[in-house]
Amino acid sequence: MSHHGTPQADRVLIVGAGIVGASCAYELTRRGYAITVIEGGRPGGGATAACMGHVVVMDDSEAQFALGHYSQRLWDELSDRLPGSVERDLCGTLWVAEDDEEMAAVHAKHAFYTERGVKVEILDAPALRRAEPELRPDLLGALRVPGDSVVYPPTAVDFMLSEAVRHAREHGVDFELVCGTPVERLSSHWVALRDGRRLEGDWVVVSAGRGALDLLPEALPGHAIRPRKGHLVITDRRPGFCRHQLVELGYLKSAHSSGDSSVAFNLQPRATGQMLLGSSRQFGRDTAEVELDIVHKMVDRGRHFLPRLGELQAVRIWAGFRPATDDHLPLVGPVPGHETLLLAAGHEGLGITTSLGTARLIADRVSGVDPEIDPTPYLPSRPGADHG
Ligand SMILES: Cc1cc2nc3c(=O)[nH]c(=O)nc-3n(C[C@H](O)[C@H](O)[C@H](O)COP(=O)(O)OP(=O)(O)OC[C@H]3O[C@@H](n4cnc5c(N)ncnc54)[C@H](O)[C@@H]3O)c2cc1C
Repeated sequence: MSHHGTPQADRVLIVGAGIVGASCAYELTRRGYAITVIEGGRPGGGATAACMGHVVVMDDSEAQFALGHYSQRLWDELSDRLPGSVERDLCGTLWVAEDDEEMAAVHAKHAFYTERGVKVEILDAPALRRAEPELRPDLLGALRVPGDSVVYPPTAVDFMLSEAVRHAREHGVDFELVCGTPVERLSSHWVALRDGRRLEGDWVVVSAGRGALDLLPEALPGHAIRPRKGHLVITDRRPGFCRHQLVELGYLKSAHSSGDSSVAFNLQPRATGQMLLGSSRQFGRDTAEVELDIVHKMVDRGRHFLPRLGELQAVRIWAGFRPATDDHLPLVGPVPGHETLLLAAGHEGLGITTSLGTARLIADRVSGVDPEIDPTPYLPSRPGADHG
């Protein structure tokens, strides 16, 4: 095959330009690979456009923690170079506790994070009131995670892709973004577009979010990526209404439930002064239509924690889909039996956070470098739940 840049540069075809594909393009061009990104819609227009952008290290499992912690470090390293449009805000997270059981969870999380080197602090009720005066006064306390941050994902995608262009120029290799025509079929060395074009590469990375496994029928028996719908509400500007990303500890019950529908309080202060209210989780929905009964539940839950939330005006309400795997871990690495066909998808509600770590694991695989974290838990070759 021919290359336009340095003759020795391998070409990687990346299918899908959400935060994950864009981060892979960023990382692979940094290492001198020639890249073609094929995006069926518009870059960053999938789940990435619909989400909250909370860069948060979760403690659900060791594997989820490892990828989140690693990725957070990479976001921190990038922070000085992110343009203002990415609206990075090192606001930290407050996990708020309503009752003794949740306060016990605060202590357990404190121990977990501290043992693993993440800075955390327990706030008692008065300290919580000082930190966030709008919160209901009878809450028992909170866990503060000061290293968590917020970004605006659509402009983060723009940044990654423009950096990829810059890296490619520096290395004298080719970077191409093909938009508006989806990939219909692919193999380890080529992709076929709906308009009949066929592109060739040395590697193929499938970062097509919830659509990724549709492109690999039968390649991954037992695995599924199911769309998990989530609603968000953004308010008018009320700078200082809250300062941290606020999450109820009951959120964990909601995030882990496999039931069809749940709502948990989650509020994010945006750099614009707006408040972004989440969030709901629903399986079994196939349209992004706003369901007002769900939105009412979210607002009620928000007002339960922030009595004056109702004074803010909602300016936009929307819904998107988290690409969810059965074990809540993304699928990152080679499709079994196809060493040059790599999957990077299924990041559920954490794909903004874990995009940078994912991109490193993918680029390490392509360049034959030992990864900094153990890639095994995320490999697509792990057993799935067997959907028959
Ligand atoms: C309500 C909500 C809140 C969330 N909040 C957070 C949060 O606070 N923090 C966090 O870390 N994560 C959050 N997430 C999760 C996050 O949005 C996703 O995990 C992440 O955006 C997934 O990125 P992606 O690149 O894999 O997928 P996507 O952004 O969906 O990108 C996939 C791309 O592939 C393209 N594509 C698909 N099929 C094809 C094809 N055949 N050919 C070519 N292109 C194709 C699509 O057009 C799309 O642009 C949230 C999600 C939701 C829905």
